[in-house]
Amino acid sequence: MLSRPIPCLWITFCLHLWCCIQSAEAQNAKEVILLDSKAQQTELEWISYPPNGWEEISGLDENYTPIRTYQVCQVMEPNQNNWLRTNWIEKGDAQRIFVELKFTLRDCNSLPGVVGTCKETFNLYYQETDSEVGRSLRENQYVKIDTIAADESFTQGDLGERKMKLNTEVRIIGPLSRRGFYLAFQDVGACIALVSVKVYYKKCWSIIENLATFPDTVTGSEFSSLVEVEGICVSDAEEEADNSPKMHCSAEGEWLVPIGKCICKAGFHQKGDACEPCGRGFYKSSSQDLQCSRCPAHSFNDREGSWRCDCEDGYYRALSDPPSVACTRPPSAPQDLLYKINQTTVSLEWSPPADTGGRNDVTYRVQCRRCSCEPEECVLCGPNVEYSPAQSGLVDTFVTIMDLLAHANYTFEVEAVNGVSDLSRTQRLFAAVSIATGQAAPSQVSEVIKEKVQQRSIQLSWQEPHQPNGVITEYEIKYYEKDQKDRIYSTVRSKSTSATVNNLKPSTAYVFQIRAFTEAGYGTYGPRLEITTKEETTAAIVSSEQNPVIIIAVVAVAGTIILVFMVFGFIIGRRYALAVKFPGTKTYIDPETYEDPNRAVHQFAKELDASCIKIERVIGAGEFGEVCSGRLKLPGKRDVSVAIKTLKVGYTEKQRRDFLCEASIMGQFDHPNVVHLEGVVTRGKPVMIVIEYMENGSLDAFLRKHDGQFTVIQLVGMLRGIAAGMRYLSDMGYVHRDLAARNILVNSNLVCKVSDFGLSRVIDDDPEAVYTTTGGKIPVRWTAPEAIQYRKFTSASDVWSYGVVMWEVMSYGERPYWDMSNQDVIKAIEEGYRLPAPMDCPPGLHQLMLDCWQKDRAERPKFDQIVGILDKMIRNPNTLKTPVGTAVGTLDLTLRSHLSNEFYFTTFRSVGEWLEAIKMERYRDNFTAAGYSSLESRPRGITLVGHQKKIMSSIQTMRAQMLHLHGTGVQV
Ligand code: AMP
Repeated sequence: MLSRPIPCLWITFCLHLWCCIQSAEAQNAKEVILLDSKAQQTELEWISYPPNGWEEISGLDENYTPIRTYQVCQVMEPNQNNWLRTNWIEKGDAQRIFVELKFTLRDCNSLPGVVGTCKETFNLYYQETDSEVGRSLRENQYVKIDTIAADESFTQGDLGERKMKLNTEVRIIGPLSRRGFYLAFQDVGACIALVSVKVYYKKCWSIIENLATFPDTVTGSEFSSLVEVEGICVSDAEEEADNSPKMHCSAEGEWLVPIGKCICKAGFHQKGDACEPCGRGFYKSSSQDLQCSRCPAHSFNDREGSWRCDCEDGYYRALSDPPSVACTRPPSAPQDLLYKINQTTVSLEWSPPADTGGRNDVTYRVQCRRCSCEPEECVLCGPNVEYSPAQSGLVDTFVTIMDLLAHANYTFEVEAVNGVSDLSRTQRLFAAVSIATGQAAPSQVSEVIKEKVQQRSIQLSWQEPHQPNGVITEYEIKYYEKDQKDRIYSTVRSKSTSATVNNLKPSTAYVFQIRAFTEAGYGTYGPRLEITTKEETTAAIVSSEQNPVIIIAVVAVAGTIILVFMVFGFIIGRRYALAVKFPGTKTYIDPETYEDPNRAVHQFAKELDASCIKIERVIGAGEFGEVCSGRLKLPGKRDVSVAIKTLKVGYTEKQRRDFLCEASIMGQFDHPNVVHLEGVVTRGKPVMIVIEYMENGSLDAFLRKHDGQFTVIQLVGMLRGIAAGMRYLSDMGYVHRDLAARNILVNSNLVCKVSDFGLSRVIDDDPEAVYTTTGGKIPVRWTAPEAIQYRKFTSASDVWSYGVVMWEVMSYGERPYWDMSNQDVIKAIEEGYRLPAPMDCPPGLHQLMLDCWQKDRAERPKFDQIVGILDKMIRNPNTLKTPVGTAVGTLDLTLRSHLSNEFYFTTFRSVGEWLEAIKMERYRDNFTAAGYSSLESRPRGITLVGHQKKIMSSIQTMRAQMLHLHGTGVQV
C-alpha cells in the first residue's frame, strides 16, 4: 500500500502530535468507540480510489508504537477526486455518532509552484447499510456530512522551522436507522495527512446514585434530548414513598437531574452506596430512620438486621408503642386506698402505684363484689351499681360508687392498669377494701292496686318496695285532683301497705303517688296512678245540696249507730278481755275466743291453692313439723320467697288447731316489723302456714354468726325495727310473752321482724321456758319479775323482755346472765342486780335497757317511747359513741384492773375454771403465758372481737356480783 515515501517532515510532525492525542483520550470515558484508526497497528486496508490518491502510511509514535495514517497530496494536478472509504462500522446501540478527525493540512501558499489547483479542504461522507456491501465505491450513494477545513493548522514560518499543527474536527451524524455505515473522505486537491479517525457514540455509564443503580444508557438521538432513566434500588433498599429514583442521561453522556431516591429498609443502614444490616443490640424500625439505634431499655436482640428489639421477660410493648420506646410492665397496686361510706354510696380514694411500670398511661379500674358471709361468697355487682366518673379508665385517683344495697357487704378492688396490663399474664395487683354499706332511703313503692273506689273514698293497697333498705315505718300517700296538677295536693299516712283516702269529690279524677319512709328518710314517689271516684247518685246530690234538714238527720242517725257500736264493743271487749283502742287502730282478737277455730283461721288468713306453692328445701324443724323454704306465685303477682311451716302427718285435732292458731294471730298483723303471713293451706295435705321468707333466720344465731361485724348504728337499726314491731303489736293490744332474740327473724336487708305467735308457744315451743313456782312455763331470763311471780303479762312485761333483747343484740347473741342458773337469775334480779353494759355498748343504750328493767312496770318506757328514743339516737349518732375504756384494744388493761384473786375465787377457783365456764378455755394458754395466774401481765392472741367481748362481759358480771356481794348496791 505504501506507494510513496513520506517526507521526513511528516513523521516528525506525527510523533509530536501523538502526545496530544493521548492526553485528549483520557477525557472520553463516556464514549463507546466504534472505530479508532490509531489503535490499530496492522494495516487499515480502507478502500482508496483512484489508487494513486489516498495512501496508507505506517509510522511510530513517541513510544515507538506503530500508527497508521492516510495521506494525499496531489496538489500539482488539476481535477483531483480521491476517495477513501473506511471499513463497515456496526453502530450497535448508537443513535448519534461522533466522528473525530485529526489531520494536518498543508497551506497551499507554503507549497512552491502550485497554482490554481491546490485546495485546503476535504469532504466527509457516510453511507448507511445493514451489512457490508463489498469493496466497490459509488459516490452517489454517499451522503455528505461536511466540508472539512483546517482552522489553524497551516504550515507557517521558515521552511527549516516548520511547525505543523494538528487539526481536530468532530462531526456528528444521526439519527441512524441501519445497522451500520461507512465513512468516506473526498480529497479534491489538498495536501492532507489523516492522522486518526475515531468514530464513537456517547453513553451514560452505569452509576449508583442515592442508593439506586442506573444502568448504562445510550444518549438520545438529538443533541438536546435527555433520556429519562428509572433507577433500581440497591439490595436491602427500597424506593422512598412517591419518590422513585430517576436520572437523565444527557447527549454528552452525563447523568443529570437526579430525582427521588432509595433508602435502606428497616433493619439496614446506609454505608457508602450500599445498605448494611444493623448490628446485634441495634435496630432500625423504619426505612425513614437514618441510623440504627441501640435497643431501648428492657429490650434486646441477638440477630443482625433487626427492625426492632424483643422485650425482656416480664416486660411488654403495647400495640401502639413504637419500637423506639422502652419495654414496660404493668403497674403495681394503687396505694393508700381509703373509703368513705355515705348510706349506700361509697367513695374510694387512693394514691398512685409506687411503680407505674415505666409508663405514663396509668388509669384505674374498680371491681365491685357483693359478698355474703355464710358461705363466704362474692359475686360481681350487677349493672344497677353506678360509678362516677366511671368504672374503668379512671384518670384521677378517686371514684364514687352509688346505688349499692343498704346494709350489705361489698369488696372493692382498685387496680392500676397501663397500656401493657392486658398483655401481662402475671397476677393482677390491686388494692382492696371490704365495706358494709349503711342505711338508705327505700326504693319506689310499686304495684299500687285500687281495692275499692267509692264516690268519696278510694282504698289502695301496694307492695313493699323491692329495696326497703331498712324498716319501713310509714307510707305517705300523696294525692291531688288531676286537673289541679300537683300544685295543690294532700297527703295521708299509713303504717301498713294499704290506706283509704276519704273526703274525695265524686266523679273526679285523682292522681295518687306513694312513697315509703324509713329511718333513712323518705324514698322517691312511685309511679302516678289515676283513679276517678264514682258518680254521686241524684238523690244524694239533691239531699245534700238542697236539704240541710236531711243532713242533720243523717248525722244524728249515724251518731246513734256509732254510740251503739261503741257500747256494744265495750261489752264485747270486756267479755273477751280485749283492750279498748282508739278508733282507727285495729284490735287484736284472740282466736281462742272463736268457738270454731277454723272460722278464725279463715277470717284472718287467706286460703292458698297448694299448686301456687313450690317447696324447695327444709330449713328447720318447728314444733309441729318441718319448716321449708320455697316460692309462692299468686295469679297476677310476682312470685315471692316464702317459708312454709308444715303440720306433720298423724296430727291430732288439737295439734291442728294449735298449729293454725299461729296463722290466725299472725294473719291479723300487717306491719313491716312483724312477720307477714301469706296464707294457709287447710284444704289439702299437708296443712301449711305460708310466711314471708326471712333469709337470715333467727336473730340470736345470726348475731352469733356475725360476731362483731356490725356498726352500732346497724345494731340500733335492728333494735329500732323490733321496737316498732312491738309498738304495733302493743297498739293492737297483743302481748307477746316470749319476746327474745331467738323469736326475731332477720331478712336479707337486715330488717328484723317479730315472730313466733303460737298460743301455746311459751309452754311447749320455747326451750328456754321453764316451770316456775307459780305454775306455767316461763323463759325466766327474758321475763319481767311480775310475770314470773304472778303471771302478770302485759306490754310492760314485753318491754322488760325487749330490754333483754337489746342486751342480746348489743352483745352479739350472748346468753343473758351467762351460765347463772335460773334460780340465781331470779334471785339476783329480785335483789336489784341488772345485766351490765355489753362490750362497746353506748351508755345511752344501756340506760335504756335499765329503764326497761325497772321493777315498777309503770316506770318502764312504752314501746312508742322506745322507738322515739332510738330514732333520736340514730339521728344523732354522736350519742352512740363507745365510751373510752371499753374499746377492744384495752382488754388486757381492763383485765388487769378487774381481775383479782379475791374476785374470781368468789365464783371460780381458778382462771382456768372461769374460762371453761364461759367456754373460752381455748385461751387458757394465752392467760398462762401472760402470767394471768397472778393476773399481772397481758394475754396476747385473743383476736376475735366476739371472744374479747365475751371475756370482758364475764369479768364485768363477776365484778358486778362482787360488788353486789359486798353490799355496794346494784349494777356496775
Ligand atoms: P319456728 O317453728 O317458728 O320456731 O321455726 C323453726 C325454724 O325455722 C326457725 O328457727 C327458723 O330458723 C326457721 N324459720 C321459721 N320461720 C321462718 C321464716 N319466715 N323465714 C325463714 N326461716 C324461718
